[in-house]
Amino acid sequence: MGLMNYSEQQKAIETLKAKHRGCPNCHSQGAEISDIVGLPVLERGIPSGIAPGNQIMSLLPVTCRVCGCVMLFGAKEFVNLD
Ligand SMILES: [Zn+2]
Repeated sequence: MGLMNYSEQQKAIETLKAKHRGCPNCHSQGAEISDIVGLPVLERGIPSGIAPGNQIMSLLPVTCRVCGCVMLFGAKEFVNLD
């Protein structure tokens, strides 16, 4: 199962490239867009507490080449694992 197909990935990257306005930390324009990453969405249970759920949030990391600041932008809302 893929998180996003190729054309969805390219569209997300191109949209972010068009809108990105530089690093908020050092104001450099030297940022690069990395591969899409996924973070597990945690579910809150009572009384069990927080535990990994069955959803992944897909994110586009933009890394500043000058200061190393990493910005995460949503690539797609959520992807279900099941
Ligand atoms: Zn920076």
